[in-house]
Amino acid sequence: MFSIELLQGDITQLEVDAIVNAANNSLLGGGGVDGAIHRAAGSGLLEECKTLNGCNTGEAKLTSGYNLLAKFVIHTVGPVWNGGTKNEEALLENCYRECLRIADELKLKTIAFPNISTGVYGFPKQRAAEIALGITNEYAKIATSLEQVIFVAFDAENYQIYSTLLE
Ligand code: ADP
Repeated sequence: MFSIELLQGDITQLEVDAIVNAANNSLLGGGGVDGAIHRAAGSGLLEECKTLNGCNTGEAKLTSGYNLLAKFVIHTVGPVWNGGTKNEEALLENCYRECLRIADELKLKTIAFPNISTGVYGFPKQRAAEIALGITNEYAKIATSLEQVIFVAFDAENYQIYSTLLE
């Protein structure tokens, strides 16, 4: 069992065991939260990412956190929204499940998620939040080491959606 918390702000500033990056298939950096994480972590992160041979959509890979306060970064690749015709919901579920599984396997206590796929990838925010919280609540039943899962909303709309769902 773990607690679920909501914050509004910049995920790169959190002192947690792992932050999740909403990366792209190359894992070589990009815009949005991905760019912010790479800037805050420093060039060591990109060097390690270059050794990972990318990542499939719906999967996740681990790196160290370098200059971040977080010890680790779990890079996951969310689906690009395509009207719901390309298995996007199942792929997003898989992102959350994989990140939680990796964190728990490493015996981490705290993990923070951004709102994966809801930026340039265009996934509808309400549905994405329902998936994130649904998978997290499901995982809470089997988690062993995790004590705290934090959702970090950057924009007010996501913050509002999550706070309503968490009530
Ligand atoms: P994607 O390509 O998965 O849609 P984006 O980075 O474009 O990824 O957006 C994912 C989410 O991350 C969006 O809700 C965006 O507002 C948010 N975001 C952007 N920068 C940050 C940040 N520094 N900390 C936390 N969340 C962020």
